[in-house]
Amino acid sequence: QGKRVYELAKELGLKSQNLMDIMQELGIPAKSTLSVVDAESASLISDYVNELKHKAKEQKEELESIPDNITLVEFCAHFGVPIEEVREKIMKFGLPYKPSYRYSRQEVHYLAQELGLKVPPFLDEEFKKRFVKRAPVVTVMGHVDHGKTTLLDTIRKTNVAAREKGQITQAIGASTVRIHGEDIIFIDTPGHEAFTEMRLRGSLVTDIVILVVAADEGVKEQTIESLNHAKAARVPIIVAVNKVDKPGADPEMVKHQLADRGLLPEEWGGQTVYVLVSAKTGQGIQDLLEIIRLQADLLDLKTNPNTIASGTVIESKIDKNVGPLATVIVQTGTLKVGTYLRAGNTVGKIRFLKDTFGKNVSLSPAVSAVEIAGLEEIPEAGEIFYELSGIEEMREEKEKIEEAKKKAKEEGRVPKTLEDLLKEMEEREEKRLYVILKADTQGSLEAVKRAISEIKSPIPIEIVHEGVGGIVKSDVLLASASKGFILGFNVRPVQEAVNEAKSRGIEIRTYDIIFELIDEIERLLKGAQTKET
Ligand code: GDP
Repeated sequence: QGKRVYELAKELGLKSQNLMDIMQELGIPAKSTLSVVDAESASLISDYVNELKHKAKEQKEELESIPDNITLVEFCAHFGVPIEEVREKIMKFGLPYKPSYRYSRQEVHYLAQELGLKVPPFLDEEFKKRFVKRAPVVTVMGHVDHGKTTLLDTIRKTNVAAREKGQITQAIGASTVRIHGEDIIFIDTPGHEAFTEMRLRGSLVTDIVILVVAADEGVKEQTIESLNHAKAARVPIIVAVNKVDKPGADPEMVKHQLADRGLLPEEWGGQTVYVLVSAKTGQGIQDLLEIIRLQADLLDLKTNPNTIASGTVIESKIDKNVGPLATVIVQTGTLKVGTYLRAGNTVGKIRFLKDTFGKNVSLSPAVSAVEIAGLEEIPEAGEIFYELSGIEEMREEKEKIEEAKKKAKEEGRVPKTLEDLLKEMEEREEKRLYVILKADTQGSLEAVKRAISEIKSPIPIEIVHEGVGGIVKSDVLLASASKGFILGFNVRPVQEAVNEAKSRGIEIRTYDIIFELIDEIERLLKGAQTKET
């Protein structure tokens, strides 16, 4: 007793054509909707269809469990992720950052997947089409005098020559380089401090770090510091071995030194690309740019220029004619003349926009670097900015800023103690104590390190940075960025570091006897443990 296709389709709640497609898939093709299907095949087909339906339902339920129309805070609460972590990454994925913005289910799903959270695969091709390939943002770091400034100058000149010959670009904190029709954005504030500041404020704008090492001098203290910063930020590193034109240049030495620190060269079976360059003669610069492009392609960087504008402040200054000026990286959406903004603790309406070649532009789509005029005050480097809907929202935001300022003044800031850190760590469920270690000599540094490594505790202690010498401001910045604290052995903090630590709430502990230092850490770790159980 066979059934005709249209009858079976009716039974299964499908259109005849769909059923015929499914039959085709199963290898039981039918000529027409009137064709007869034998009983055995009919049962096979209906089992298969029911299974499909079941799967679709499960998938749908899973998708419906993803919340719709929620703020970032609600997102973090739903998925149980720390807000700082998401805030750091969201704009890099091409989704806007704005506290009051409500993310659609698709955006929530997309973000969750990008963050590696447990959700069904995101398959909405239409939605994905909104995201376009974007320019990478590159930061150049390295030891003083190893050639960061010269390298950036040479790169900029290469590019200017290709455009308008003779025109000298004015540095505004970032520059754009076009290679084969694709942009690379360089942050012109070399130096690790600016980089840390940026990280501190919770917004990581850098996609790739270029670590400059002079081939005649090799790895130096700030090389290592830079490397630690880049590692902490989990950003890919390309090594530019500079000054290869010099007689004493020894690129192999640089490779050996850095290979020991986790940057194993590709040619030795590692993953780090080393490019030999001379910022002075221009040798290897083109190769370096190509490698950056290649790395960017690997990262598959994308953004949505048609959403709310948001991004990061790179630099700001007061111009005596124009007033506050800020250079920003637009990471999502498009900035336009007339856009209302909040940037850090200030607001404003954009009066004009200037690109990195000093040209006035009426709009600047993500991802781009642009200088903006129109903010009421100067925002700090590293602050996030986002678009406001109009003058009304701008007034509201201004009120919020005033209120927050008043409150902060009343409360004052209390330094973060090691006890606080341990408590916070428990709340974050991250069992790792981050330490910045400074000592008076290499010998004592090694001794303290050895003693620390021998501490028996289920909470691992990670030395984020170590060095010989007094405790300086950059140590504090690094401690703040890595949510750690500073241990000094036979050294003291300089005044600037003390002030910075106070304002950021970072604890500095100094000791003169190793035994005491270890004893104290052990005691604290034990305390943290017993609190847990
Ligand atoms: P920064 O402190 O890292 O920004 O270093 P600079 O760019 O200021 O360079 C320090 C010095 O090294 C300057 O005198 C540069 O002219 C010189 N320098 C930079 N790159 C090269 C290079 O590739 N070859 C040679 N011979 N000198 C270089």
